[in-house]
Amino acid sequence: MNTGTVIIGAGQAGAQLAISLRELGYSEKITLIGDEEHLPYQRPPLSKEYMSGQLADLELPLRTADYYEKHAIEVVTADPAARICREEAAVTLASGRRVPYTQLVLATGARNRRLPLEGREPANVHYLRTRDDAARLREALGAAQDILIVGAGFIGLEFASVARLAGARVTVVEMADRVMGRAVSEEISVYFAARHTAWGAEVLCSTSVDEFQRAEDGRVTAVRIGDRTLPVDLVLVGIGVIPNAELAQEAGLAVGNGIVVDSGLTTSDPSVFAIGDCASHPRPETAGLVRVESVQNAADQARFLARRLCSQDGDYADVPWFWSHQTGDKLQIAGLAQPTDGTVVLGDPGAGHFSVARVRDGRLAAVESVNSPGDHLASRRLLANGAQITEEQLHQPGFTLRKALHAAPEGAPTNHRLLERTTR
Ligand code: FAD
Ligand code: NAP
Repeated sequence: MNTGTVIIGAGQAGAQLAISLRELGYSEKITLIGDEEHLPYQRPPLSKEYMSGQLADLELPLRTADYYEKHAIEVVTADPAARICREEAAVTLASGRRVPYTQLVLATGARNRRLPLEGREPANVHYLRTRDDAARLREALGAAQDILIVGAGFIGLEFASVARLAGARVTVVEMADRVMGRAVSEEISVYFAARHTAWGAEVLCSTSVDEFQRAEDGRVTAVRIGDRTLPVDLVLVGIGVIPNAELAQEAGLAVGNGIVVDSGLTTSDPSVFAIGDCASHPRPETAGLVRVESVQNAADQARFLARRLCSQDGDYADVPWFWSHQTGDKLQIAGLAQPTDGTVVLGDPGAGHFSVARVRDGRLAAVESVNSPGDHLASRRLLANGAQITEEQLHQPGFTLRKALHAAPEGAPTNHRLLERTTR
């Protein structure tokens, strides 16, 4: 008997998989198991439009309750999967409910890395992953005057922008020597560090907090950084994530910086798959396995797996892309850059719109664009086409990515499957 597809994790990847399966005509049972109280929702606005009050709670869900009902997708909320029994092909939930599966998909995402603070978790130290985290942080932001942000990654810097708009004093502390160091080139880091400073935030790189001073109730009241003591009434910690792979590990599946999958997104068990932030998958850019933490990756892996579960073959392939809104600027990234990639700046950073081409083995490998959506779209198309733009071409006077796209050889097919979503 076919007991259908069970998806653990009702987030971006899990919900997209359920939606795509039904779009492809999958007629077996679909059970989407979530540990949060809400229906699947979008996370990106939580640090952007939702935090700044431009977007209401109502606008966060990916689909309405009616949609899931109409498409016979059972969404389980607030009842986490507690155990996978592969011998019995069944998942046991925290409530004790047993859910049998024919195919099991792990879409458990990631959780925030936490600061090792002693004692009780201070009420004014915040993390941002869930809708509930965001609601608490948004309320606290309303009353905060002195904000400390630990980590100058995407979360820290997006929140820094919103906090400055709200009029708070903002200090950002980053251990690495530049902001967003994992995700972008040095040129982009320099641009955004200057923009945040111009917006009135103090950005301290190669720095960490030496001491958190606490009140009796545990709240952080001040921090010592070197020989300075700064008053603090709200702390946001954005120091990266840990993949939720424990359930898979306890079930005896291969795990290593996430749940290990092959090019078909299959785990070490042929009836179990993993997608999204939790999946460590092979990629052409590197020799080892990689986890990509983005909406595009979650959604594209879900769409690919839906096709596979509907009996279509193939290996997962994509052109990764990311976006971030900070300091009134729009950062868009196409391709997955590596730390050793070279850089060629296209345009003028001083003018506030430019792109940085990342070069690997003498060829265009990724593009980071600031306030240049045309460059971003052109680079996604060039990368999907497999266009071989050389470093020499990038240096030619008058070179632009848009011209390069139009000059691409006639008939070079754009792989539209790699461009399924439009730009943000
Ligand atoms: P998630 O969306 O995290 O979903 C996983 C779900 O599984 C969660 O609800 C989790 O609680 C649940 N779960 C875990 N274990 C269990 C269990 N045992 N049982 C049941 N459920 C379980 N990406 C971008 O590309 N652009 C952006 O601008 C952007 N902004 C972001 C802003 C914020 C504030 C955050 C937090 C993330 C942002 N991201 C952004 C990242 C993006 O949201 C993630 O990469 C994406 O959500 C990953 O999807 P996922 O389904 O793999 O994981
Ligand atoms: P992140 O982008 O990985 O950035 C974390 C930053 O904190 C890194 O620069 C890291 O430096 C630094 N750091 C680590 N430990 C530190 C410490 N003790 N003190 C000071 N700095 C420290 O992670 P994030 O910003 O926390 O975001 C979490 C997740 O949400 C990620 O998956 C991210 O992709 C996602 N997100 C994405 C977007 C977007 O795409 N626009 C927006 C928000 C969130 P090292 O690299 O040196 O460790």
